[in-house]
Amino acid sequence: MANSVAFIVVLLAALGFFVFSSIRLVKLVSLGKAGNRLDATGTRIKNVLVVALGQSKLLREPFAGLMHFFIFWGFVILLSAILEAIVQGVVPGVTLELLGPLFPPLAVLQETMGILVVLACLLGLARWWLFPPKRYFGPEISAHVRFDATLILLVILTIIVSMLGSYAARMGISGHPADARFISARFAGLFGDPHQARIWDMVFWWVHLIAVLGFLNYLPYSKHLHILTSIPNVFFASLKPRGELAKLDLEDENAEKFGAEDIRDLTWKQLLDGFTCTDCGRCTSVCPAHQTGKALSPRKIIMNIRERTSELAPCLLRGTEDQHQDVAAHRLLGHYVTDEELWACTSCRACMEECPVMIEHVPAIMDMRRFLVLSESRFPPELTATYKNLETNYTPWAFSHESRADWAKGLDVRTMAEAGDGVDVLYWVGCAGSYDQRYQKVARAMVKLMHAAGIRFAILGTEEKCNGDLARRSGNEYLAQMLMTENVATLNKYKFKRILATCPHCYNTLKNEYPQFGGHYQVTLHTAFLDELMQSGKLRVGQQAHGKVVFHDPCYAGRYNGIYDAPRRSLAACGANLVEMRHARDKGFCCGAGGGRMFMEETVGKRVNIERTEEALLLNPQTIASACPFCMTMLTDGVKAKDADEKVQVRDVAEILADALL
Ligand code: SF4
Ligand code: SF4
Repeated sequence: MANSVAFIVVLLAALGFFVFSSIRLVKLVSLGKAGNRLDATGTRIKNVLVVALGQSKLLREPFAGLMHFFIFWGFVILLSAILEAIVQGVVPGVTLELLGPLFPPLAVLQETMGILVVLACLLGLARWWLFPPKRYFGPEISAHVRFDATLILLVILTIIVSMLGSYAARMGISGHPADARFISARFAGLFGDPHQARIWDMVFWWVHLIAVLGFLNYLPYSKHLHILTSIPNVFFASLKPRGELAKLDLEDENAEKFGAEDIRDLTWKQLLDGFTCTDCGRCTSVCPAHQTGKALSPRKIIMNIRERTSELAPCLLRGTEDQHQDVAAHRLLGHYVTDEELWACTSCRACMEECPVMIEHVPAIMDMRRFLVLSESRFPPELTATYKNLETNYTPWAFSHESRADWAKGLDVRTMAEAGDGVDVLYWVGCAGSYDQRYQKVARAMVKLMHAAGIRFAILGTEEKCNGDLARRSGNEYLAQMLMTENVATLNKYKFKRILATCPHCYNTLKNEYPQFGGHYQVTLHTAFLDELMQSGKLRVGQQAHGKVVFHDPCYAGRYNGIYDAPRRSLAACGANLVEMRHARDKGFCCGAGGGRMFMEETVGKRVNIERTEEALLLNPQTIASACPFCMTMLTDGVKAKDADEKVQVRDVAEILADALL
């Protein structure tokens, strides 16, 4: 009786403190801006099943993923044992044997998972102390991460060992080892006579429950907070197209500033991201900027959001901001995150692809860039000329707008205005296809292929303007919206079945962002279009001797829009001996040009394009194939810098197919 009373007091105190911590956490997160994440509940539940419960993203790293998988599922199954122990504290003598025929299989499962969790914890401890993964020990990861992980693993070990010990002691009391408890039964004889076994049972039971309740209350204040927040975070993850950045309401007369300077400018989901980060470093380990020595670490950005929320939010909740001048003077941007970090991002999305709890790094980085550009006019000086060109020439370069369609002279290409009653395909040439001498060859190859396939197509000519991706992803939302709105007005004048783009950035923006401005179109990337023409027999190519070919996945074709197989099928169809780089498909490594980086200086660390080119050259290819004008420029520069341009060609898939036409 005294034992039960003592336990109920401990239980209520522990649960009370846990509820207090949880409410505090919800209040902190609620300080963020509103945002609806309750649509399409079915898809959200599916994400939870696959990503959170199925641990699909963690399993991208098989060793660490499997360890985590066993610990997670082991813990879920062992919750039944924990509940049993809690109920016994209130109603002594109740056991899971009440479940009748369900008890033996459950007991076997508990014992099996118990021993697997013990093994996983021991392996986890060995990993942290003997062979830690590099991603945890970059210059910015401190010893507290290892301390926290060690503490958590030791507490989990204590919970499981005390559970098995308690079962063993109980069998020592009864003298009848249960077959289903095939592990604990082996230790039943260790506890001496029934009286001593009873004392051991009591000790194990208290240790077990104090460890469980302590664990529960430590979680809200530890890096393992994700145990509580990751399922909600996955549930609330964005369901919008991956390549769609949110539209900023520039008409909002009440807005004191545009973009995000501090945590109050972020949404509640972005604050929840901060509290869900496991500090695992997977995002930073794949970040091309970080890998080449830039200041940027996506892990740090997310942890900074958490640190700043933890610093400012309690003052806001208590209304004591004025009494903490230092806290009030800080901002997320400036005190925690620097301009240099933000401008290093290529928007490649590798971080988001890897994050096991679906944290959204890129929108947070872009929101802060928007603040820098729109509210502070603070951006790399190189962008001044780029923005000026975009405003006056509708292209990032200093070419006259009137010459936009000159590349097509003599190619029998009509403009939409000339086509009159509409076409099947509106070919969106893009700025590179229009002006960049190297990429004009790709535009011409595309025309040759479409003529060969008998496609009824036309271009906008001088009615086409930059799609707005560069302006938007470099934070200049005002300029981006201007270009997007004008292009939509032009496109909506004409009749066509779909838009074809030879640039993944144009493709992504037209497809995923133009609907924000009333432009709803069927948009196809050229690699997918060419694959379709070949599959339907409209295009026929011969097998040519291309030698070894490596395909570099453009981020905005691959990770953002899932186009991986089409270009590979086309290359294989014309005889390429395709070999894959270590970083391929959704693990692809950026060329370094996205997010406006193409138009900014790269003076810190190694150049991203050199890193990528070196990876390609390791395979001794004759051709590096790709499907993006930015990748084309960056890889061509890389090959030249490595003095390999005599041996290695950088070509677009369309060029290779045009040469192989039968
Ligand atoms: S989007 Fe790419 S460059 Fe930017 S933080 Fe993520 S991984 Fe790094
Ligand atoms: S943001 Fe995601 S991948 Fe990066 S450290 Fe946090 S949990 Fe890991």
